[in-house]
Amino acid sequence: MKSSGLAATLLVCIVLAGPSPGAGSPTAASSPPVLPDSWHGSIRSVRTAEKVVALTFDLCEGAKETAGYDAGVVAYLRANGVKATFFAGGKWLRSHPEQAGQLLADPLFEIGSHGWSHRNLRQVSGKAMQEEIDLAGEILSALRPKPPIGAAAGPPLFRFPYGTCSSEALAYVNSRGVAAIQWDVVTGDPDHKVSAAAIARTVSGAVHPGAIVIAHANGRGWHTAAALPLFIPRLKAMGYRFVTVGELLAMGEPVTVTECYERKPGDNRRYDRSSQ
Ligand SMILES: [Zn+2]
Repeated sequence: MKSSGLAATLLVCIVLAGPSPGAGSPTAASSPPVLPDSWHGSIRSVRTAEKVVALTFDLCEGAKETAGYDAGVVAYLRANGVKATFFAGGKWLRSHPEQAGQLLADPLFEIGSHGWSHRNLRQVSGKAMQEEIDLAGEILSALRPKPPIGAAAGPPLFRFPYGTCSSEALAYVNSRGVAAIQWDVVTGDPDHKVSAAAIARTVSGAVHPGAIVIAHANGRGWHTAAALPLFIPRLKAMGYRFVTVGELLAMGEPVTVTECYERKPGDNRRYDRSSQ
């Protein structure tokens, strides 16, 4: 059975992680936090006058694959003190325990959920959809270091695999007190034909106060690491600073829509044919 298999996998992961200080953090059994009304829906950016931008990197891993880890991306961000948000799949967290632990422990970074095994949640519904969301959130909570006493924990964040959602899945994520984070600047880094210079041009040209940029750090972003030194200094010269998505959300009202899409409504329907 798929569900019991996933549950057993999660149990193994938690046991392997040991009784962490975060074991008391929210679980499926506790009542979820309430999401502010204005955070409901698919968040594409944040309205703010400040020159801030949130870089996001997805750590995707499907059920039948083992994805990678783009150490060059992380090394550049660390060397230059650039804050970023990673959206990690539950299965990716399990297959990359060392890197996951390092990312989760680094105060420069924020880690949100990218579902359990990168299923297309526009096509998966009911209990299977809920499991993809809940199990990923649970392993993330189990692995996440407990914040110091008195420190404010950031809002729980979720990014839909493929950037696809149904209204049912979007409502379910929000009902769990979790913000669904999309983007409004697309690097296009999964396409090997998109060069580092092209990524840099895209980001530099599309950036605006409150922008959310999507890229990848699971080894599937072809020229991502090479693009960072091209556009990050440029954005800094333009007066921008880098914040996590959680910090960005605290700086203004989110721009939300009722559908999940890449650049315009319906443009990611192609994933419905090839993904489950
Ligand atoms: Zn992904």
